Amino acid sequence: MAGTGLFAEILDGEHVYKYYADGEWKKSTSGKTVAIINPTTRKTQYKVQACSQEEVNKVMDLAKTAQKLWAKTPLWKRAELLHKAAAILKEHKAPIAECLVKEIAKPAKDSVTEVVRSGDLVSYTAEEGVRILGEGKFLVSDSFPGNERTKYCLTSKIPLGVVLAIPPFNYPVNLAVSKIAPALIAGNSIVLKPPTQGAVSCLHMVHCFHLAGFPKGLINCVTGKGSEIGDFLTMHPGVNCISFTGGDTGIAISKKAGMIPLQMELGGKDACIVLEDADLDLVAANIIKGGFSYSGQRCTAVKVVLVMESVADSLVEKVKAKVAKLTIGPPEDDCDITPVVSESSANYIEGLVKDAKEKGATFCQEYKREGNLIWPLLLDNVRPDMRIAWEEPFGPVLPVLRINSVEEGIHHCNASNFGLQGCVFTKDINKAMLISDAMETGTVQINSAPARGPDHFPFQGIKDSGIGSQGITNSINMMTKVKTTVINLPTPSYTMG
Ligand code: NAP
Repeated sequence: MAGTGLFAEILDGEHVYKYYADGEWKKSTSGKTVAIINPTTRKTQYKVQACSQEEVNKVMDLAKTAQKLWAKTPLWKRAELLHKAAAILKEHKAPIAECLVKEIAKPAKDSVTEVVRSGDLVSYTAEEGVRILGEGKFLVSDSFPGNERTKYCLTSKIPLGVVLAIPPFNYPVNLAVSKIAPALIAGNSIVLKPPTQGAVSCLHMVHCFHLAGFPKGLINCVTGKGSEIGDFLTMHPGVNCISFTGGDTGIAISKKAGMIPLQMELGGKDACIVLEDADLDLVAANIIKGGFSYSGQRCTAVKVVLVMESVADSLVEKVKAKVAKLTIGPPEDDCDITPVVSESSANYIEGLVKDAKEKGATFCQEYKREGNLIWPLLLDNVRPDMRIAWEEPFGPVLPVLRINSVEEGIHHCNASNFGLQGCVFTKDINKAMLISDAMETGTVQINSAPARGPDHFPFQGIKDSGIGSQGITNSINMMTKVKTTVINLPTPSYTMG
């Protein structure tokens, strides 16, 4: 169970969790806590420390000192510790998954999957890091005009320093380790600021790294509301890199952060373009999986369907039939549709639904909401003047826009501020490739719903969907810089002998 057994030391009294710094679990001197509301019961489930600015300063100093030694720790030893942490994480999947169920209302089975996937990600990162960081480059000067062979250039990848990791609520464990593991294998230290909803899952995950035996001060986790300590963290002079995943907050951070590398994975409005020749059963299954799993609270959820008018009636009927089969209820029962993360999120979704209703969208189901639980809703005949055509509901509401040409679908996709992923369904691979080229998104899936992963695939958004690229290899590279050493010879080497 969460907060018991091996995890008892992270707890400070009933349901109040400590923060992690200098290899120890601590209570904040602020004397304040932040409540985590269970989205299902809408009651306080846990509390975490509201860390102060002084505590953040201390953590930054510790992280800086620890990083210097860690950078000198052999790569194989860093990998060994990561493998150990991965094994502990997977061994303790049950209590961590329990926190995910209570904090973010993720269905029980998906919660376990998130923890296991995270352990696998950590192990893969350790292996990949050993391979790619163990190699450098050797260049000779006479390949550039005007130079003799008098210089040998050696390059290697060195760490950036202190990496600030800020994941979002929807995959708090997976999107935290996708930052922590590449940072650590590359020789960086970590300051993690978990999302408030998801903070206790993150604290349990951090304890697994603690149990693995990483050096003190190398991994730190400060808790508190992003709106209160976020700016102090992201503008802190001790931070050498920010890896952030979330919504528009990331755009604000990139305007305020200093001259440091940024990895920003932000929102999306992933379009699903359906051509006349598509296998509509396959499309319907992918729309259900892509649009409604975890109640639509995924960055890569299908967020707008752009279907050719001639097959639209048939597709909508198929999707409607599948929506009717979705189970709706608490995450503990492993329902397909569970409460959305917060009341404000549910209110936002409701605003989009009301706007669509006023402007004449066709409701394929009756709109129904109880607390934070919103019943799945397919909106047909959505038009571009409706907010839902452009905004990210992050809930189980999916708009269908009927199109008369492929160009119209591509135009809608490219007119969005977002550019995370998109997908196209057709049996014609040539058309699929042309559409993929034309879509202004970081990834296009052909004949499948958008998805992040497998975690070693490159993953990136363009426009308001982000800066930089994730995926294990890209993240390791992003968290390093190139160091060059040049050996200068007195005479060209070929004059010898
Ligand atoms: P969010 O509101 O932007 O929050 C993300 C993180 O930022 C949280 O840890 C939050 O902490 C923190 N934060 C808030 N204000 C901050 C500030 N001023 N400075 C620094 N950090 C601050 O996003 P969310 O609601 O958790 O997640 C949903 C969004 O994430 C959606 O837009 C979704 O599309 C996007 N997302 C993108 C990807 C991707 O890879 N592209 C993946 C998953 C999700 P608090 O919780 O304490 O406020």
